Amino acid sequence: MKINKYSFGIGDRFGRQGKAQLSAVLKAEKQGISITPVWNKSFREHSIAGTKPADVRREADAAVRALKWQKPYFVDADHINLKTVDEFIPVSDFFTMDVAEAIGKPAGEQEIKDFISASKAFIPNLSLPGMDKPLPVNEAYLYHFAGQYLHAMDEAAKIFEYISARKDPDTFVVEVSIDEVDKPQAPADLFFILKTLAEKNIPVQTIAPRFSGRFNKGVDYVGDLKKFEQEFEQDLLVVEYARKNFGLPDSLKLSIHSGSDKFSIYPVIGRLIRKHDQGIHVKTAGTTWLEELIGLAAADGEALQLVKHIYSEAYSRMEELTRPYAEVIDIDPSALPQPAEFDTWTSQKTVSALRHVPDNPDFNPHLRQLMHVGYKIAAEQKTQYFDLLDRNEEIIGQQVKENLFDRHIKRLFLEQNGKE
Ligand SMILES: [Zn+2]
Repeated sequence: MKINKYSFGIGDRFGRQGKAQLSAVLKAEKQGISITPVWNKSFREHSIAGTKPADVRREADAAVRALKWQKPYFVDADHINLKTVDEFIPVSDFFTMDVAEAIGKPAGEQEIKDFISASKAFIPNLSLPGMDKPLPVNEAYLYHFAGQYLHAMDEAAKIFEYISARKDPDTFVVEVSIDEVDKPQAPADLFFILKTLAEKNIPVQTIAPRFSGRFNKGVDYVGDLKKFEQEFEQDLLVVEYARKNFGLPDSLKLSIHSGSDKFSIYPVIGRLIRKHDQGIHVKTAGTTWLEELIGLAAADGEALQLVKHIYSEAYSRMEELTRPYAEVIDIDPSALPQPAEFDTWTSQKTVSALRHVPDNPDFNPHLRQLMHVGYKIAAEQKTQYFDLLDRNEEIIGQQVKENLFDRHIKRLFLEQNGKE
């Protein structure tokens, strides 16, 4: 099963926005941009939100039926490993095999030897078609790579075999993720990672490296844009080479995790994938739950009160809520409003503080990141939360759709150089 050139990971913490999300994809379809929706949710999110993998399948199928979506769509077992994959197998047709934890663990001696001797041909330089500057490779680098990644690729092979023994490999898409680590992978790393995955016969279709710069949850990219542009273009060239020369699926493409809200790099990504005629997968999971909060805040009254309550709880439990996300958030506590102050805000002011419009003076990225990890609080008062979601379905659906389409899809796929 091959994935389309463009695909979007539209995760959804509480599984209530499938139709609104799909309507954004439909809107793109009507404007000539074909995007495959992929409902993704990780074990971590399921545990915190108290949901099951089968819930995501139900949500996706229901949205597809309701909106009469005729094209492919997927349900992604996001960030799974051997310990967590079982429950996902019957209901998923996209598996994001997370091997980040295995990075840096030692590989077998013989395996390292074989890798070094097979890779010596690439010393001193790796020059791929389209690159104006070759990627430097020497023996020390190869040993370093082997120490970092060979064991992790073995782990990927184990996970793939485990799933394949239980599900026909022609019926699912394979992603390998190595993004949740502190050090980014350079384009040369990506080259040898893809080469190794190919040698292990893992039909990877999307690969999620850790790019340089910060991909914090729910807010814009932080980092050197020029450097990102250079690295991203080299990564695209590596992927193109791997597709043509390693025998990997011709649908192979990059996957961008924590890809929502990275407004400053969308024009760069959009331009480069068009320049090199390449596909992309962008995961935008967390942004939808924030739109639920924005919709509730806009609805005012009891709904706004619940948002204020969630904030006050999140503020006092910041340490607990941010711990599982330490790698992917940067909150300055002194930039957060005191809950007592937040309580006095109007509906309009609350919406402006939360909605990701960076040049709005009321926008607060620290508040937004804290609320991003605050879905646990909503999960703890599900009855009230779901009741308010139901009662404000229309206004929330509008926020979800507008956010995905106007602030994400349009900027990535429909605007040239960030402008229409
Ligand atoms: Zn990820």
